[in-house]
Amino acid sequence: MYKLFLCSCLLLCLCLSGFSLTAQNTYIHCGNLIDVESGKINEKMTIVVEGDIIQSVEKGFSKVPDTATLIDLSEMTVMPGLFDMHVHLESETSKDNYMDDFIKNEADIAFESTVYAKKTLLAGFTTVRDLGGSGVNTSLRDAIRKGYVEGPRIFSAGKSIATTGGHADPTNGYKADLMGDPGADEGVINGVEEARKAVRQRYKNGADVIKITATGGVLSVAKSGQNPQFFEDEIRAIVETANDYGMLTAAHAHGDEGMQRAVRAGIKTIEHGTLMSDETMELMKQYDTYYVPTITAGKTVAELAEIPNYYPELVVPKAKEIGPKIQSTFARAYKKGVKIAFGTDAGVYKHGENGREFAYMVEVGMPPMEAIQSATITPARLLKVDDQLGSIKGGKIADIIAVHDNPIENIKTMEDVKFVMKEGKVYKNNL
Ligand SMILES: [Zn+2]
Repeated sequence: MYKLFLCSCLLLCLCLSGFSLTAQNTYIHCGNLIDVESGKINEKMTIVVEGDIIQSVEKGFSKVPDTATLIDLSEMTVMPGLFDMHVHLESETSKDNYMDDFIKNEADIAFESTVYAKKTLLAGFTTVRDLGGSGVNTSLRDAIRKGYVEGPRIFSAGKSIATTGGHADPTNGYKADLMGDPGADEGVINGVEEARKAVRQRYKNGADVIKITATGGVLSVAKSGQNPQFFEDEIRAIVETANDYGMLTAAHAHGDEGMQRAVRAGIKTIEHGTLMSDETMELMKQYDTYYVPTITAGKTVAELAEIPNYYPELVVPKAKEIGPKIQSTFARAYKKGVKIAFGTDAGVYKHGENGREFAYMVEVGMPPMEAIQSATITPARLLKVDDQLGSIKGGKIADIIAVHDNPIENIKTMEDVKFVMKEGKVYKNNL
């Protein structure tokens, strides 16, 4: 029996290797090809893809062998699949959002998340970091990885970590008998011991990254959108534990004091960063901290706050005050030389519109090429996957997208991605 099993395994292997030898290559003719590593655009190039890997990048439109297929992007600008370093694939803004906790089961959230994941992928975003949900985000990652669901590659934070009453305390604003005390497993910590436990629990639950809410936030039902909500020793305990487990750390922060504590404690990315002082920017450069701006979310919450009863009463003044400030903070941080990684907070606005962020970045001074680098090679380096992703190069995974116009001349073209390939498979081809 055992021998028979071995024999059939051997046969299967032979068949599979025989198959891969004759597998069809795909030739992609690119009108323009963006080399995000050098920051240059090369005209008339060919990408050869075999399976899920880029085999080579050649000058000119290479002759396509009879055994290969051609994808003709000769009228398009081609670039690596985009990264969004801040999304929430479990939900999407709506007037009834705040009821969801009471009416939706995990299965409801899961089915919805598959729709948002697909929209994100079709918008050209082949890799995202999901910075906080219920844990469905981690299952969604696995379902996409196994090919059950179409969506981007996900680096999941599972459930965010907050302090009692903090921005990611899931019981804020509930009536007394529903509030309870969620504890470290649910990501609500007080003190160093619980901070460590919450990180270890997330590791056990399969999270890839750790997200904390270092200050108040706009959309939680709580008064302050900017107060510091962790002591520095608590953040330090989180970062040290996360480092032990090889997990990156991200901190939501609007207020400056909470932001500074997070940077000094070693958090790797500051999300939103709304009221960031010049001093904090210098500190971020010193500590090699990245800034993930989420301008699109800021602008959207300020607009939605004008619609009567869209948000709860406590949220409206925060959204109006904090939302519009992110873009100018981003402009200052860019000028100061803080490292920028592209992120939008998708879910706070409608999924699939992630590309809007590019125009907002360019509008206040970032050159288009740098905006594209912030969504490709920079996040690949941040996530330590730049040996496989983030640029179009022989040996890397075939995540390739195309837009109609040259984005250096028209950055808005990033909002209308026409072609999406992820791991060698074409998901969109609207030429
Ligand atoms: Zn967020």
